Amino acid sequence: MKQTKLWINGKWESTKETTELKAPYTGEVLANVAKATAADVERAIEGAHQTFQSFKKTTAYERAEILYKVVTIMRERKQELAKILADEAAKPISAGIAELDRTIATYQFAAEAAKQSTGETIPMDAAPGVKDRIGYTKRVPLGVVSAITPFNFPFNLVAHKLGPAFAVGNTVVLKPASQTPLSSLVMAEIFKEAGLPDGALQIVTGSGGELSETLVTHPLVKKVTFTGSGAVGLKIKEKVGLRKITLELGSNAALIVEPSTPLEKIMKRGVGGAFGFAGQVCISLQRIYVHSSIYEKFTKLFVEETKKLVVGDPHDEKTDVSAMIHPDEVGRIKNWIEEAKQHGATVAAGAEFTERTCSPTVMTNVKPDMKIVCEETFAPIVSIVPYETLDEAIDLVNGSELALNAGIYTNVLTDAMKAAEEIEAGAVIINDIPTFRTDNMPYGGVKMSGYGKEGIKYAVEEMTDLKFITMKLNYE
Ligand code: NAP
Repeated sequence: MKQTKLWINGKWESTKETTELKAPYTGEVLANVAKATAADVERAIEGAHQTFQSFKKTTAYERAEILYKVVTIMRERKQELAKILADEAAKPISAGIAELDRTIATYQFAAEAAKQSTGETIPMDAAPGVKDRIGYTKRVPLGVVSAITPFNFPFNLVAHKLGPAFAVGNTVVLKPASQTPLSSLVMAEIFKEAGLPDGALQIVTGSGGELSETLVTHPLVKKVTFTGSGAVGLKIKEKVGLRKITLELGSNAALIVEPSTPLEKIMKRGVGGAFGFAGQVCISLQRIYVHSSIYEKFTKLFVEETKKLVVGDPHDEKTDVSAMIHPDEVGRIKNWIEEAKQHGATVAAGAEFTERTCSPTVMTNVKPDMKIVCEETFAPIVSIVPYETLDEAIDLVNGSELALNAGIYTNVLTDAMKAAEEIEAGAVIINDIPTFRTDNMPYGGVKMSGYGKEGIKYAVEEMTDLKFITMKLNYE
């Protein structure tokens, strides 16, 4: 049985207590995972602080070289890393490879960002009475960053923390989700091989709830970056005090489909957005608002395409949808669907369950206050709702307190721009599903979906301070 350890100051450390890690698809025990105590986290933070004193003095070139080396190693080990995702997250192999390709791109963007961190010259003599003075800004690292990450993209969402932090010279204490520690622990090996100094990356595994106090409030922690559920994000925000914080939280992403849309062409994409990784994606397509003139045809095509998906073993190349992250999730989803049915909703496809899986489910006749519509389902469930006017559709999209990405399909330019202006969301995606993301675009929600932005360049801003420097050119 594999026994994992903590990664502290460049060494593997055992813990007294461990927790069993079970595969979501088979239930088999994959490993006994080290369970850190608050004292372990304190040591990790202190070590990261000490390492910061030298790491902040490394050159942009040196830091970029480390990140480029990570890119090279991950390319070579891609298949092996995808297997870790299939084991601990039940992520189908094809989706795992897609996540790793994005992770590699994320580290590459970070390597490039290391060399692009610049400031500006301030025209000091534009202020009255000021002359013979120069002024400029530069971005400076903060120190120790506490990074807390979720289970659903265990490589790429960790890369969105580590990449920008190391690009600018911060050090990191990483607390991965308890269900996906293996994909973080392998990054310790990879960064070590790439030449990252010992202590710049510390990895502590264990319960987020138990370790949170130390991770979030230790005086040497200068920034907290969290990706996960809204409920946990709020708790962290309440504790964080004056520290910088980024919160990447959940959503119930919506899409508007206008009558000008070529339905056959977008069906595969829509179904992929709704059911990829069993809907356990923060921008998973959950609400589809379709103009009433094309509603019947859209629903028929969507249901047909949904029924083509294969539910099964994540290690099988043919599998589209595998197990939910935990069997309890299946129970929750069943209840939410049942509750919706009792209030008049119809199952148009799916809603078939095993102990660990939920088949891709399409719901119609839903109402805005049903849980499957107004809350984040984080499951393979999508609702299709007809509307009469674009104003009505935009109101329905904006009716949610969750707002990461939203999408609209239309070939009418003025309608596209109206949606871009009026939809309240972190991003409006025109002529694509809201599940679209590249790793260099600014990414982050508004309302209850988040606080701050990721996307390497934007994360670099959030992980640095803007320092101003001025010099008088004479003594007059
Ligand atoms: P989660 O339950 O909120 O857990 C996320 C992380 O927080 C885990 O490492 C967890 O540790 C830790 N944690 C739990 N309780 C904590 C506490 N009281 N204080 C500090 N940390 C704590 O989320 P999840 O189920 O892993 O992920 C799903 C959620 O993440 C969804 O809501 C999804 O939308 C969101 N998400 C957002 C984005 C984005 O970019 N906006 C991306 C991906 C996912 P343990 O595992 O030990 O409990």
